[in-house]
Parts: sequence; structure tokens; C-alpha cells
Amino acid sequence: MKKCKSCKAEIPSDAKKCSHCGTDQRGWFRKHPILTVLLIIFVIGIIGAVAGGGGDKSSTGTKQTSSQESKQSPEPKQVQEPMKITAQELADDFDSNQVAAENKWKGKLVIFSAEVTNITDFGLSFSEVSSKEFSMTQISCKVADKQQLLALKNGQNVTVEGIVGSQTIGVISINDCQIIQ
Ligand SMILES: [Zn+2]
Repeated sequence: MKKCKSCKAEIPSDAKKCSHCGTDQRGWFRKHPILTVLLIIFVIGIIGAVAGGGGDKSSTGTKQTSSQESKQSPEPKQVQEPMKITAQELADDFDSNQVAAENKWKGKLVIFSAEVTNITDFGLSFSEVSSKEFSMTQISCKVADKQQLLALKNGQNVTVEGIVGSQTIGVISINDCQIIQ
């Protein structure tokens, strides 16, 4: 049971109309479903217009900033998909023709696995990677994050990702290396 909104008489709680005075017990929105729907659409329309107008201004703002950013750094390194190679493939290319190899590999983001032969302050070295016997060619990976080097051991097989640099005195440098495994 509940009380009538108008005459306060006791009426069943599910009654839509008071049996005493006839007052509609439903709320305004229940009484006017069509008007309610129209009102909701209208309100959403206003919110949309306000938000859309504001959004336009801010999005043009973002476009300007992003175009400025892209001028400063045309190609972020992270966008490049790493090329899966073998250390031997890379070393062999440099062994057979350094100029051609640099032309082919320099600046490329590569990922390869090899056995670590030396762990130094600046990173990792992989020697005897080329298929040619007595080759002096080495791959040297510069690792900026020293924390990544702490858990490694010589002789361990690791997967590294980095950007191929040039070869100096038999050493192929790989820059900005990340140890993947
Ligand atoms: Zn009533």
C-alpha cells in the first residue's frame, strides 16, 4: 500500500490512479513517454553539438601539434618491423662485400639469435658468427640498458633486436639493441 500523492488516501502500491480522487500516480515521464523520448533526443542533440564543436577545435589543435611532431622526427624507430635474420647471414654478407652489405643492411631493424662471446660495458659481442673459417668478422651490439646485461652469461644463446650500423675493423655494430630473450 502507498499514499495518494494528492489526497493521501491509502491505495494499492501498484495503482496507477487513485481510487478516491482519480489523480494519476505515475511520474511525469511515465505519463508522457513520447515527450520524454523527444526531450532525451533534444538533450543528447545539444550535448552532441557542444561536445562536437569543442571537439573540432581540440582536434584541429592536435592535428597541428602532430604535424609539427612529425616534422621533427619523421620516422619513429618503433614503427619499423624487425627483420628476422641469422647472425651468420649478416656476417657472411659483410664478409663477402662490406660496401654491398652496408648498402643492404645499414639502418635496418633486425632481430637475430646467437651465442654471446663477450659481455662488455657497452653491450654484447658475437664472434665466429660467419660461416667462413678464420673470419675475423664479429657482431657487436650496443645495449643502452645495462640492466639487460646483468643476467647474461658468455656462451648463452640470446635474441637481440637492433639497428645495423657499419663495419669497422671486422666488427659489425648493431645500435640501440634490446635483448629480447
Ligand atoms: Zn487520491
